[in-house]
Amino acid sequence: LAKVKIGLFVKFFISVSLLIAATSMVLSYFIISYEVATITENLKKRGVVMASTLAYDSEYGVLVGNAGIIKEGIQRIEVEEDVLYAVVYDKGGRVLAATDGIEGAPGTVEAAASSARETLIQLYQSTALGEIVYDIALPIKVAREERMREEIGFPSEAKGYVETIGVVRIGISLSAMNRAVADLTELIRNITAGVIIFGILVTALLVGIITRPLRRLLSGMEGVAKGELNPVDVRTSDEIGEVARTFNKMVEELSKYRRQTEGYSRSLEVKVSETQKTADELKTYSENMIAAMAEGLVAVDTEGTIKMVNRALEELTGYIEGELVGERFIQKLFSGKDRERAIEAMDRARRSGILKEFDLLLNSKDGKEVPVSFNAAGVKDYEGGPQGMVIILHDMTKEREADRLKSEFISTISHELRTPLTSIQGFVSLILQGKVGDVAPKQAEFLKIVQTQGTHLGRLIKNLLDFSRFVTGRMQVEKQRISMKDVIDEVTLAMAALFDEKGMKLEVNLDKNLPEISADAEKIGMVVSNILGNALKFTDRGGTVRISVARSDENVKVEIADTGIGIAKENLDKVFERFFQVDSSLTRKVGGAGIGLAVAREIVLAHGGKIKAESEGLGRGSKFTFLLPIG
Ligand code: ADP
Repeated sequence: LAKVKIGLFVKFFISVSLLIAATSMVLSYFIISYEVATITENLKKRGVVMASTLAYDSEYGVLVGNAGIIKEGIQRIEVEEDVLYAVVYDKGGRVLAATDGIEGAPGTVEAAASSARETLIQLYQSTALGEIVYDIALPIKVAREERMREEIGFPSEAKGYVETIGVVRIGISLSAMNRAVADLTELIRNITAGVIIFGILVTALLVGIITRPLRRLLSGMEGVAKGELNPVDVRTSDEIGEVARTFNKMVEELSKYRRQTEGYSRSLEVKVSETQKTADELKTYSENMIAAMAEGLVAVDTEGTIKMVNRALEELTGYIEGELVGERFIQKLFSGKDRERAIEAMDRARRSGILKEFDLLLNSKDGKEVPVSFNAAGVKDYEGGPQGMVIILHDMTKEREADRLKSEFISTISHELRTPLTSIQGFVSLILQGKVGDVAPKQAEFLKIVQTQGTHLGRLIKNLLDFSRFVTGRMQVEKQRISMKDVIDEVTLAMAALFDEKGMKLEVNLDKNLPEISADAEKIGMVVSNILGNALKFTDRGGTVRISVARSDENVKVEIADTGIGIAKENLDKVFERFFQVDSSLTRKVGGAGIGLAVAREIVLAHGGKIKAESEGLGRGSKFTFLLPIG
């Protein structure tokens, strides 16, 4: 069943029309009732007046018993249209005179009339007359005076009384009145109907006028709902007009807003297409760049799955792109210890966002191990969340080969140097012992210088040898139970003269209950003497070097701090790299090959320990700390 929509117009119209109709009908009902009551009352009054007139006119006739006089009175009222009959009775109820119509009057009324002392009005339907009749009976009264003691000559004292000597009776027809009432009712009904019709028409007109602006407003709103922003033409000054004006203002604002938005979106479109163009250019540019890169490039997602590789990486690994994309980067390209190290490298890169030059061995497709330098940077999505990583693998084969050749060369040279140095030192020692004759004091002094410089040279050569050994993987650590105190004592004793020469203080602070450790005493000695040698080199005259040794958990901790030139923050890690020198012009002056700390680190790591460099900054001294496990 379709829901019937009853509009405001219909509602208004129906209710106002009903109101008008109801009001008119109630009003006409009351008017008719009032008119009927008035007419009836008037009729009764007229009847009574006529009866009274007849009674007055008949009084004399009745008294003297003259029917002619009575007849005259009757004739006078008989002419009235609505008088049906008129009768005059004597005191005993006998008819003295009557009109023709009296036959229609019922007998019972006769009796009632004859005994009437007061006016009696009755209403009845006369079948004989075919009329509704008002029957009015009225007594004919005369005033009498009884004179007392008249006969004895005293002033008479009158006593007045009223005597009923007969009754008049008239019948008045109600038909005429009813006709008048009917006429009146019809007139009122017609007027009411006219008023209702007129009222309805006026209502329709008024409601139309009132709701027209509303309908316009509605169609305007429907238009807005459809997206047509047209103002409505409503100019009334009432509330609807107010609403319409507000609506028009709204429409105007909306149009303005729409125009603006359209403008924005057009310029946005232009910008988007420009951006798209730039992005496309950038894309091609970066694609070309990536393809032309000498380094292997891999992009991985947050799970470590390969998303993209470049040509160089294909060449590096021997795999083609299709064999790599979708694979797990670490599992596919690394194995054994290097897989663990690769996982560590990825973790570090993820945590700090970037990781540079981490050495790894990569497994190529044909089973070869390729040395690579691993560099990674985290990639963020546009909301700043992690999206994955870009990894650059630099093929280090040539560098490693060069290193190997260098090391071999160094190894050969140092071997060659060691033999003559040993013999120089041996002979100097023999001379100093006086085995080949007396030695003058000045000669002895010079020979001692030769001896210390020889020791210095010996340490250098030893470093070179150790270095070449660890590069070629031939360094061996022979662990024994040793005392750290012994190691420190031996090194400091050997270097004491050098500290003296430079006017520097060397403070040693050893914990009393140091446990023995399992280590290679000679190698640990090398670590200490390399760090001490650096402290000596990079601290000005008059400076201080402090060594402190203490237990720390399951390790022995050695700290060597100087008051020298210090190390910049960004170089703290690099000092342990081979051939690294912060300032090669300075080191050329003080000597060194950039391998002392690299050797020291290799030795500490070979013992399962750790080493680090700290500095408050340039000019504020450096501190080297290494830990060696006790067990
Ligand atoms: P080198 O043979 O050049 O001393 P090392 O590996 O021992 O090589 O040291 C590497 C570099 O670290 C040095 O060239 C120097 O720049 C820096 N360095 C090492 N120790 C210190 C120190 N105690 N104070 C300042 N700089 C230092």
